[in-house]
Amino acid sequence: MIRINENFRKLPSSYLFSEIARKVGSYEVSHPDVKVIRMGIGDVTLPLPRAAVEGVIAGAIDELSSDTFHGYGPEQGHDMLRHAIGENDYRRRGINVADDEIFVGDGAKSDIGNFVDIFASDTRVAVTDPVYPVYVDSNVMAGRAGELLADGCWSRIIYLPCTAENGFVPALPSEVPDLIYLCYPNNPTGTVLSRSQLKEWVDYARANGAIIAFDSAYEAFVTDEDVPRSIYEIEGAREVAVEFRSFSKTAGFTGMRLGYTVVPREVMALNSDGTRTPIRDLWLRRQTTKFNGASYVVQCGGAALYTPQGKTQVAGNIAYYRENAEMLLSGLREAGLTVYGGTNSPYIWVKTPDGMSSWQFFDFLLDTCHIVGTPGCGFGPSGEGYLRLTAFNTHENTAEAVSRIRSFLKI
Ligand code: PLP
Repeated sequence: MIRINENFRKLPSSYLFSEIARKVGSYEVSHPDVKVIRMGIGDVTLPLPRAAVEGVIAGAIDELSSDTFHGYGPEQGHDMLRHAIGENDYRRRGINVADDEIFVGDGAKSDIGNFVDIFASDTRVAVTDPVYPVYVDSNVMAGRAGELLADGCWSRIIYLPCTAENGFVPALPSEVPDLIYLCYPNNPTGTVLSRSQLKEWVDYARANGAIIAFDSAYEAFVTDEDVPRSIYEIEGAREVAVEFRSFSKTAGFTGMRLGYTVVPREVMALNSDGTRTPIRDLWLRRQTTKFNGASYVVQCGGAALYTPQGKTQVAGNIAYYRENAEMLLSGLREAGLTVYGGTNSPYIWVKTPDGMSSWQFFDFLLDTCHIVGTPGCGFGPSGEGYLRLTAFNTHENTAEAVSRIRSFLKI
């Protein structure tokens, strides 16, 4: 009988979100009159920008329902969207990225998860800790992670702890990885790297033949001049970095599904005979084989975000969430909590008070303030002792959550 990929069996069940759902579900059953405010899951709440809706209608209804109909599109994305991305997200900001280095997909998660296909099975991977779980789990599936140890770490993965002690800035590893995942602004900690801090990583990758998988899903939240929105703002990054971007948090496309990956021609990996291959060619091959392109309708919606109206509406949505983040930051600080992130990011990383564990603080917030966060320990061992709150909510709910925390938390 056919056998399974045993690596899948190594993955622990995704205990975190199911356990949160179980606890919240049973709390709601026993407290039917209480309004629970959900600030745990990183999903947006505002509706789609109007420009995207109009783009979808023009693309879907008008174009596809008449003799201008067309079917399969290019796997890498339609030219109109790739060009809009190249112009607006890169070249007008002085960043050199060509349209044919941009690969449109159905969201950053799939691209990040699929990217592992193109590297050798013994590739050594480094991740920051705490971490967006997809980087780790996709490498477990690919058989690169080794065994899960008692401390929650995988034996072949190099962990880069990000803690209050190091200002959430990972130290360069002593053991050299081949593939380094960096996510800035960071999920879950909401912290960022400055230009010079990111430059150290680019220089390190160049010196050590490593590739950086840079996840900038939250770049739209950056306001500080000294915080790069794209890794290609850093000199030399075109030689060593791949960048993943998403329309999810910028434009409320979590349900629409759209993202893109930039793979510059200069990024190389070794062949077994010692020669080098541009990984752009491998990614193109992978995508043209296993992917048939993001929905044309959704791509039309995405392209419309680059019109003047689209840009204004996206900026309005981001500004709305930023106000929530500011409300949370100042309110939680006034309540005596120690909090990180939240200024260039929709995530607030809260230090649990009085030595509580992540889950104890989760239970406390749910029982006392009726607020749902995400226990930091679910993102990796260094997340223990923290809890993540998100700014993706209404102003009213955010203000209500802050007021509950301020009145119930006695620190
Ligand atoms: N990268 C990070 C760091 C995320 O937090 C998320 C979603 O929460 C994603 C990627 C996935 O984005 P998408 O919705 O485009 O798949």
